[in-house]
Amino acid sequence: MRFGQFSLFFITLFSVFSFPLSAQNPPQRAIAITIDDLPAANANRMTGAEIVEMTTKLLATLRDQKVPAVGFANERKLYRLGEVDDRIKALNLWLDNGFELGNHTFSHFSLNRVTLPAWEDDVIRGETVTKILLAQHGMKMRYLRHPYLDTGRDLQTRRQAEAFLVSRGYRIAPVTMDAWDWMYAGVYEDARKRGDLALQQQLVSSYLSYTGTVLDYYEKLSKDLMGYEPKQILLLHGNWLEAEHIGELLEQLRKRGYQFVTLQDALSDAAYSMPDDYIGEEGTNWLDHWAITRGHPPLNTPVFPQWVLDRANTLPKPPPDPPVF
Ligand SMILES: [Zn+2]
Repeated sequence: MRFGQFSLFFITLFSVFSFPLSAQNPPQRAIAITIDDLPAANANRMTGAEIVEMTTKLLATLRDQKVPAVGFANERKLYRLGEVDDRIKALNLWLDNGFELGNHTFSHFSLNRVTLPAWEDDVIRGETVTKILLAQHGMKMRYLRHPYLDTGRDLQTRRQAEAFLVSRGYRIAPVTMDAWDWMYAGVYEDARKRGDLALQQQLVSSYLSYTGTVLDYYEKLSKDLMGYEPKQILLLHGNWLEAEHIGELLEQLRKRGYQFVTLQDALSDAAYSMPDDYIGEEGTNWLDHWAITRGHPPLNTPVFPQWVLDRANTLPKPPPDPPVF
């Protein structure tokens, strides 16, 4: 009896104190990190040595914090005279550090802008080096990320491309969260080169704040659409902004209750099997796809900070890709 009384006492204590504690705890959420445009988004402006330096910094934070990630490569960026070894080394660092690589097509071709056969050829060409590196680590290529998130201008092209990808052993890597880090990164890398620390800090603050807005919006859209928040998939890019500040982004995600899961784990969420008939000129994320498929196009989507767009528009155009034969 005494034991029963004690139990009741502790249960009462627990009920009294656990409620306010649990009310403070953030909800349990999960997110997979994916990083596109490897070995570096801005590879035409960087030397191979700088790409290795940037990659080392980015991966050190992810590895130290035990955050899994898949990186998606555009192998065209490897072919620069005298630099091929360094650029391949940067890709290989991903695997050496326990991360995974996927295919983002050779030339970053949009499926909405080129013919299906040309796009399929570009997918195959994008496998060459990455497949060898994966095999050396006992792994296989299994994910494809559509450049620009463009999945096809019409349903027939979309479905044919999907069948082609399945036939080559791919699983499509969708995106549900995207705060346009690439738009910030161009301005950030320019400021970094000029040593403009004030602008760099302003961009980081804006990026983290805009990320918060995107997360608020798509967490709510998730709940409105399917009644829960699926395991999300975040799109980032290989750039100096992430290499130097991904730690702050990860902290922000943790504070919101996110746990970091592998892409494979995220894809096990039933959400990724929902009907998706989205077609359109503009690539967009899969939460938008599902909402549009259900006849509820998302309204009042987050507005990207105009001052960053204005700054990005003043940057000189990136040098063209060197020819590859
Ligand atoms: Zn890309």
